[in-house]
Amino acid sequence: MALLALGLWVGAAACGGDGATPDDDAGDTSVAADTGGDEDVPGEDTALPLDTTAADSLVADTSAADTGPATLPDGPDVARLTQLLRDLSADEMEGRLTGTPSGDRAEAYIADFLAATGAEVRRQQATFPLFEVGTPTELAVVDADGAVLDGLAYFADYREVDFSGSGVGEGALVFAGYGIVAGTHDDYAGLDVTGKVVVALTDVPPGAGLSREVEGRLDQKIHAAAERGAVALVFVPAGSDASYDRERGVETELAATDKYGALHPELLAADLPVAFVHLDAVARLVGRTPDALVADPTPFDAERRVRLELRGTTHAHATCNNVFAIFPGTDERVGSEVVVLGAHYDHLGVGADGAIFNGASDNASGAAVALETAARLAESPAFEPARTLVVALWCAEEQGLWGSLTYTYYGEPLFPLADTRLMIQLDYIGGTEGPYLSNVDANNYLARFLGDETGAATLPVVPVDWGGECASDDCAFLYVSDVPAYRFMAPGENHHRPTDVFDNLDRPMIERIADVVIRGMGDLVTSKKRITP
Ligand SMILES: [Zn+2]
Repeated sequence: MALLALGLWVGAAACGGDGATPDDDAGDTSVAADTGGDEDVPGEDTALPLDTTAADSLVADTSAADTGPATLPDGPDVARLTQLLRDLSADEMEGRLTGTPSGDRAEAYIADFLAATGAEVRRQQATFPLFEVGTPTELAVVDADGAVLDGLAYFADYREVDFSGSGVGEGALVFAGYGIVAGTHDDYAGLDVTGKVVVALTDVPPGAGLSREVEGRLDQKIHAAAERGAVALVFVPAGSDASYDRERGVETELAATDKYGALHPELLAADLPVAFVHLDAVARLVGRTPDALVADPTPFDAERRVRLELRGTTHAHATCNNVFAIFPGTDERVGSEVVVLGAHYDHLGVGADGAIFNGASDNASGAAVALETAARLAESPAFEPARTLVVALWCAEEQGLWGSLTYTYYGEPLFPLADTRLMIQLDYIGGTEGPYLSNVDANNYLARFLGDETGAATLPVVPVDWGGECASDDCAFLYVSDVPAYRFMAPGENHHRPTDVFDNLDRPMIERIADVVIRGMGDLVTSKKRITP
């Protein structure tokens, strides 16, 4: 869920942000890589127990070592990078849900690690609305005695709507069209849904003169159903939500917020469970296909009983911290220039079925490379920053870029955005496709970073032209400032699924990207040469 916060309207509910391309967020594509450094590395195949306080022990003490003429590192410490990947995606991190203890645990691990590099570590607090789903859950067609006739599978068939109420609702199933009551449009006219389970379409009916962003908002529909005594509400994706669900399937997420990602608690119902079903499961629940419901949205009694149980907590003002490592520039001419290397460290937490979203590729991979870059440069005697380097571990990306937007929009940046010459974002880099770099252009800071000032070199990445669009924390720079921002990405097939685990990572791909980032940042940040943008 990435672009909501800036009103960069992605659609009433459908989100899942950073999978791949901004427009459809699908179509993840790429090329596998050979890291070259794949000799046996101690500790690689032995799962060390997670001890967040041990993060700092991963950073070597190089003070005594006599290493001869100092050179900048040309790649990661693969054993340490691997341990970072393991630790951040471990079950003990419980999916790093920002604004909750699991998110705080990841934050502590990261801050400990960065402190051990010797860099100045800073935190910046972000505040945002958070829905934390709980267990158990059930959505089933039942008989008159409540016995299950057909139980739908959580995640595969249905999912919570973020900011759902908590409880169990069982009753006759009634289809209420689009579930909208606005002006003369009343989908509940003549319908008694007291004590019943309502099923309604998302979005708005075509040609009705209604707005998806106003009358079509899910929180408005929740309010209308709750006010009329419904005991549960189930949405069927329609309009752009349907195309999103058709394309992204189980990755689809819906949220009952406005287009800015803001919460309107007065419209929500604390005891009304609210879910949505993926398109393929609609006929099982309702007895009609999604297309048939859209073709004729006239309300009807579905002549069956349904039970929905969902548990969850709405945190209207959840908080989390961005964590920064700062390497101040010392050169009198370019020292005030700032380069930002960013990665979000949060993910989706635990599902209503208890499955952990480990988020190995999204985004333990990017966070690990950012941390390894900080450690690798900090421990190198040759690393004397001429420009200022800020390594930024963003929180709350999945909830709507709240961490990075706090840096560029809602709060204050650590350094003036006007002095920030380049932002490189690492997000979802553990797949087999790529490595991609978004929106590559003729910016000379980027060229220096990529080691391609002449423009003749073969780029170590595959440029993807998104026409300036974005889907991760780079948006917070691109849309709010003139800071040139680019995102590394190596998509795969486990986006926003519980299968996004350490063992499914393409580690040579991550190591290859780490090579590019560590070389590029080392060279760009230590260079005293003036660069025209
Ligand atoms: Zn991500």
